Amino acid sequence: MIDIDKYFKPNLNKARKRTKAEIEHKDYLLDERLQKIGVGKFYKIQTYGCQGNEADGETMAGILNDMGYQPTEDEALADIILINTCAIRENAENRIWGELGRLKAMKRRHPDLILGLCGCMAQEENVVNRVLEKYQHVDLIFGTHNIHLLPQYIESAYFNKERVVEVFSEEGNIVENLPKVRQNPYKAWVNIMFGCDEFCTYCIVPYTRGKERSRLKEEIIQEVKDLKTQGYKEVTLLGQNVNAYGKDFKDIVYTFGDLLMDLDKIGIPRIRFTTSHPHDLDDKTIEAFRSCKSVMPHLHLPVQSGSNAVLKKMNRHYTRELYVEVIGKLKKAKPDIALTTDIIVAFPTETEADFQMTLELVKEMDFEGAYTFIFSKRAGTPAYSFEDNIPEFEKKDRLKRLIKLVNEGYLRASQKYKNQVVEVLVEGTSKNDDKTLAGYSEHNKLVNFKGDKSLIGKIVKVKITEARTWFLIGEACE
Ligand code: SF4
Repeated sequence: MIDIDKYFKPNLNKARKRTKAEIEHKDYLLDERLQKIGVGKFYKIQTYGCQGNEADGETMAGILNDMGYQPTEDEALADIILINTCAIRENAENRIWGELGRLKAMKRRHPDLILGLCGCMAQEENVVNRVLEKYQHVDLIFGTHNIHLLPQYIESAYFNKERVVEVFSEEGNIVENLPKVRQNPYKAWVNIMFGCDEFCTYCIVPYTRGKERSRLKEEIIQEVKDLKTQGYKEVTLLGQNVNAYGKDFKDIVYTFGDLLMDLDKIGIPRIRFTTSHPHDLDDKTIEAFRSCKSVMPHLHLPVQSGSNAVLKKMNRHYTRELYVEVIGKLKKAKPDIALTTDIIVAFPTETEADFQMTLELVKEMDFEGAYTFIFSKRAGTPAYSFEDNIPEFEKKDRLKRLIKLVNEGYLRASQKYKNQVVEVLVEGTSKNDDKTLAGYSEHNKLVNFKGDKSLIGKIVKVKITEARTWFLIGEACE
């Protein structure tokens, strides 16, 4: 019988807590004795979920590289495999159970392989208990608060042949100077803050990522300056709720809008950010859209529902009217801004009338795109115990009706750009044809056009000749 209580496991009650405790800002330092233990060995990181997880994956790769390991895409070659998980919806979690099952055979063939589970699922008590009891081939479990301790965990798992489980259910600190292996040479993720205190009733993030805590502005400004020097053309500022940036500063008043204006002075061509929250999106941020040349004219602002009754049950802290007001101010400040959003359908107690309000709002806001989901209940969240009284067929039908409307918005938006000249950051060749270049416009539209590969990594002017629902086609301007 495995004594699963001897491990440092996540604890949901602790994860719920929010105190006024000061946040520590620490510096990462790799212990000298761990700098060569990976020489001649390989690692593979499988990342699922959001940009925040991708940024964490880049940090884990940076740490493993510092230890002498090399990356590989070939599992059979890997000495370490890290599964960097997402817990946002049930289907995301089911994929991971499948993956862990599949990798059991790999572990049997390669007993020295270190198989690790990390990311948001590792912060869930029920998940860690299940792994400890049923997936004994998983050697290492660590959470979102202690990625910087990965070297010590590998040392224990490898040299002491110990099963390592260390997950902190805490509010969290900030660790700076973490190494990174950035996946894209032209666009970079830049974390500006971690955690979330919004506690939307359907969301697991406040329990898996801790409380809202902002990096010091000096660290962020220096990171963006360094990226510009390295030739990066675009940065995306990351946070679960970037608009809450700076709210936790005790000694200065410095907001997200201030940060955008300071970053704009650096002169990097493009600044984007995600994810925003309507109730924290303030006038200074709207002003940054109007006056900052490098802030790109696209905003992803999740609305989730068009019904105030549903928004209340979701604990979203805003009404439909406030959302419309914010968008009104935004369109006044930046008339050509491209708007996209997130919408959840069939949230418990959502009526057909509530759903109609969502459809109406989608039409009124003229979204240029949306991520749409059927409500997925998450263990540990308040909505998990809400009575789910909507029949499956009804849920699917609502999603189908919503997607139809959203796709009409996608196409309508694409057609706006026909015969326009847009600026495209060329990221490479198109997936389907390597004589066609691909990249995103300022309004975050995918653009394909014929051109020489020497244009990759550059921002070029492209005249749009054809508009499709999901992408634009154009010709490079001389
Ligand atoms: S704002 Fe809401 S949905 Fe977004 S991460 Fe925070 S709790 Fe989750």
